[in-house]
Amino acid sequence: MLRSRTGLCVAALALACTTLTAGLCASAATPLGGAIEPGFDYHSFANVDQFRMTHIEMDLQVDLDNKVIDGVVALELQRLDPRATQLVLDTKGLTINDVSQKATDVLGATAKSQTVWVSRPFHLEKPDPILGSALVIDLPPSRKAVESVKIEYLTVPTAAALQWLTPKQTGGHKAFLYTQSEPIGARTWIPLQDTPQVRATYTATIHTDRGVRAVMSAENDPKHKANGDYTFVMPQAVPSYLIALAVGDIAFKETGPRTGVYAEKSMVGAAAKEFADTESMVATGEKLFGPYRWSRYDILVLPPSFPVGGMENPRLSFITPTVIAGDKSLVSVIAHELAHSWSGNLVTNATWRDVWLNEGFTVFLESRITAAVYGEQRESMEAVLGLQALRENLATLEPKDQVLAIDLRDRDPDLAFSDVPYQKGRLFLSYLQSKFGRERFDAFLHAYFDHFAFKSISTEQFNEYLQANLLDRFPGIVTRDQVLNWEHAPGIPADAVLPTSSAFGPVDEARTAWLAGSLAAKKIGPDWVTQQWLYFLNNLPAALEPRQLADLDEARGLTRSQNAEIEHSWLKIVIRNNYQPSYPRLEEYLKSIGRRKLIVPLYAELMKTPSGTAFAKRVYAKARPGYHPDTAAALDPMVDPDAANAPDTPLR
Ligand SMILES: [Zn+2]
Repeated sequence: MLRSRTGLCVAALALACTTLTAGLCASAATPLGGAIEPGFDYHSFANVDQFRMTHIEMDLQVDLDNKVIDGVVALELQRLDPRATQLVLDTKGLTINDVSQKATDVLGATAKSQTVWVSRPFHLEKPDPILGSALVIDLPPSRKAVESVKIEYLTVPTAAALQWLTPKQTGGHKAFLYTQSEPIGARTWIPLQDTPQVRATYTATIHTDRGVRAVMSAENDPKHKANGDYTFVMPQAVPSYLIALAVGDIAFKETGPRTGVYAEKSMVGAAAKEFADTESMVATGEKLFGPYRWSRYDILVLPPSFPVGGMENPRLSFITPTVIAGDKSLVSVIAHELAHSWSGNLVTNATWRDVWLNEGFTVFLESRITAAVYGEQRESMEAVLGLQALRENLATLEPKDQVLAIDLRDRDPDLAFSDVPYQKGRLFLSYLQSKFGRERFDAFLHAYFDHFAFKSISTEQFNEYLQANLLDRFPGIVTRDQVLNWEHAPGIPADAVLPTSSAFGPVDEARTAWLAGSLAAKKIGPDWVTQQWLYFLNNLPAALEPRQLADLDEARGLTRSQNAEIEHSWLKIVIRNNYQPSYPRLEEYLKSIGRRKLIVPLYAELMKTPSGTAFAKRVYAKARPGYHPDTAAALDPMVDPDAANAPDTPLR
């Protein structure tokens, strides 16, 4: 997922360092003093040591008017413990109407060919505010290898993983639904084992209004008539956070033999043009990291409320429209989501503590794809911007949250998605590449993806593989302590290899000259690309003269920029300096975009002054109904704590 810097507050649990190894605070130290069990998922109730879900069959009625999914899900589970008498699943906010077990499991040979389901006793445990309610199903002990249970249920309109948009909130004239299940949202729309260490294949039948199209992270058929009934097959086993659905006025346009774009009709042409290089990105990924194992790679462009940059739902990445700049300058988000086809979707983090295995690897792979398709210079600029973002983020994080293998016990796993797993994770891999050389490191990566394909692994399993296949194979280059230091010590390690970009030299010069009054604003960077403008704006001093702001805005048309990233950087400057001429645009921006990375920092900046606070509260009251539950949950505590008690507040 491309989603860093959410602005979420970090729970203030004091971390007591009880174990010191080679001068670093080992992550095994915890607020409770107990050791973390590597690979144990603290964010799921599922008893995966007794049952493991292998296949999911969904039949979902998607009611766009009432914002409810009326579902029946059949789970096929491998029974690991013949004595087990309870199956525990994850749910959050679901109403469970009935639970039954496949009769053949109960009656054995007496069952006819006709499938019979027998009701089973069940109950929901008291809800935990973060994890939801365990659904406990009583099952008789059995020596059967496979169990099948069926659950009839209803979602609530405030389900955190579901965003329901009214026709007015979309680019077209029809209602829209999309899901965002990572990290633990799947349980708000499907009762299941909601943990990344369990993988399952799935099939789905979706019933909805005639005239809208349903698409999923599965085999999609763009030629299927929009008749309201759709069936999907996902033949590759995926973790629950990668199950995804969208329903709306969705059209399709091909961009290559195995790539294409789904988007609302008003957007599909521009999107296909912007993402025209997707096919060559897939080919590049295959050349570098091994075969692409998901058949097709399509992109779904969501309405602007989509809370993250992109979500790597397999076969069909979900992408924010804010990366459509008209000049392909922001398409590294596509390289990122595509790269997850190897890191994350193929080799998956076993728990959210290990999310750097998904995201750090993916930022590294993204940079390799970007360099191959758009050149080393673009890649180097993005790496420097990423490092700057990491440094800014580290300044706001407690030491215990600056580590790669983060302790998330008793905390919302959403907190793991800071810049640390992304950018520090990428620096770690860049460090290994620089130490062992590109050729050896590429061979290691290729083998790593093959070895762990379709498996979920912990940081410790990665370390074991790294030790055997890189550290011990080429001894005397990197020590185990150096690896542990990267994973468990806060901050950026002293031996990091930091990126630089020659393209930013002229930008620094121009900024200095303009600030000194020796360069006119209209002479700044006539041929600069987006990344150079971002670097120019992000590194201006906090306080500027009104005359300087007006000068810059007039010469460069910043308030009118259609590039959402440049606009974001400019609006931050606008707020810091209370530059009123751009406030109407600021209001429009906050009301039309729901991507957290772009709007949460703007609200945070506004809340620093009384006049900014008044403006933020006024705009937020209008904008909040259109925001995704994740975005509202990030902003409520900051902008309007009372809004969290409103009846439409998302379940988080
Ligand atoms: Zn990602």
